Amino acid sequence: MRTQIAIIGAGPAGLMLAHLLRQQNIDCVVLENRTREYVEGRVRAGVLEQTTVRVLDRLGLGERMHSEGLVHEGTNLAIDGEIFRIDMAALTGGATVMVYGQQEVMHDLFNAAEARGVKIIFEAKGVALHDVDSTRPYVTWQGGRLDCDYIAGCDGAHGASRGAIPSHVIQTFERVYPFGWLGILADVPPASHELIYANHARGFALASMRSAGRSRYYLQCALDERLEDWPDERFWDEVCLRLGEQTAAQVTRGPSFEKSIAPLRSFVCEPMRWGRLFLAGDAAHIVPPTGAKGLNLAVADVIVLAAAFAEFYHGGSTAGIDGYSAKALARVWKGERFSWWFTSLTHRFPDMDGFDRKMQVAELNYIRGSRAAQTTLAENYVGLPM
Ligand SMILES: Cc1cc2nc3c(=O)[nH]c(=O)nc-3n(C[C@H](O)[C@H](O)[C@H](O)COP(=O)(O)OP(=O)(O)OC[C@H]3O[C@@H](n4cnc5c(N)ncnc54)[C@H](O)[C@@H]3O)c2cc1C
Repeated sequence: MRTQIAIIGAGPAGLMLAHLLRQQNIDCVVLENRTREYVEGRVRAGVLEQTTVRVLDRLGLGERMHSEGLVHEGTNLAIDGEIFRIDMAALTGGATVMVYGQQEVMHDLFNAAEARGVKIIFEAKGVALHDVDSTRPYVTWQGGRLDCDYIAGCDGAHGASRGAIPSHVIQTFERVYPFGWLGILADVPPASHELIYANHARGFALASMRSAGRSRYYLQCALDERLEDWPDERFWDEVCLRLGEQTAAQVTRGPSFEKSIAPLRSFVCEPMRWGRLFLAGDAAHIVPPTGAKGLNLAVADVIVLAAAFAEFYHGGSTAGIDGYSAKALARVWKGERFSWWFTSLTHRFPDMDGFDRKMQVAELNYIRGSRAAQTTLAENYVGLPM
């Protein structure tokens, strides 16, 4: 089999790239090692930046998002239960975010794939990249071989692509946080129309949602915490405590149907290109979920990458391809900084002393009283311009 772009991974990065390339009449094949049901069923991101919303619109895939998604013009912070709101739209000239789950985005991308000629090979096991630094790279998997001009490594944090870059070429930067997020999904109305990020002496909590009838709550927890020690009642008690009385009064309790613990990590590898291989999304960088940037950074990468391939195939220039890594990394590092900063501001670190906590509270109070500080937060949260 031969194609122009071999895409490894059918997550948000890989599938969005495939749609963008097909829109430009560039041929591609997506190799995914799991089933569609598995990829679509993963409970992950839920907040879309304006750039992500726009690209779905540009692809003609925004209809369901606009009818079922929730537009948020603001977000809330809480200090030991006391809430204040950041009016993001007013501070950024009208920019908003869209609450629409990653599962829904994937559903829309998969549903449109076949009609648009996006070829996906599911359950491609043992994917391996070959001759990446030559002009004739190819990809193999159990029972198949795909020859191509370029390879897009969109296979997430544990995929095969990043490992194809020799260790003397690649540099990695990492911060592992000494806590995780214990999250639940429950079919109950959200406590608030907008998200509430709570800094509490007992640790961080987040009141979020997927829709008007589905809530997503998170608690900062120790990394060795066990799910069986967190029956729903204990979770609801703790989340109400950390969100504070005002919010707790609005919390509707109900049985959770998903409960999981996710570790928090910041990670970047440089460069994002080697030879004919281009990394995009989680394959190249990870952020802690606090800033809601993971999926959005993945989408931003593939917007840049798709434009670079279009410039090459339709304009004959390699300038975009050659500039991809530097251009993508410039945005990635800003997303990393924001996610790290927001995590540092809102979480309780095991080595924090009284002074550190006072600094967090002072910074939150500064944000509460400063339009400039609120604007900084808002413009990062809704997504920096491309
Ligand atoms: C538990 C969890 C919660 C999260 N919560 C949030 C959140 O609240 N907000 C937010 O913004 N972000 C969140 N994220 C991050 C966000 O989901 C990711 O940033 C986003 O999925 C990145 O998309 P991607 O396409 O780069 O990678 P992925 O979504 O990981 O997709 C990679 C794809 O490649 C496939 N693959 C892997 N290895 C191979 C291989 N060897 N061969 C072929 N295919 C392969 C995988 O099956 C997968 O389908 C969360 C992530 C996790 C894990």
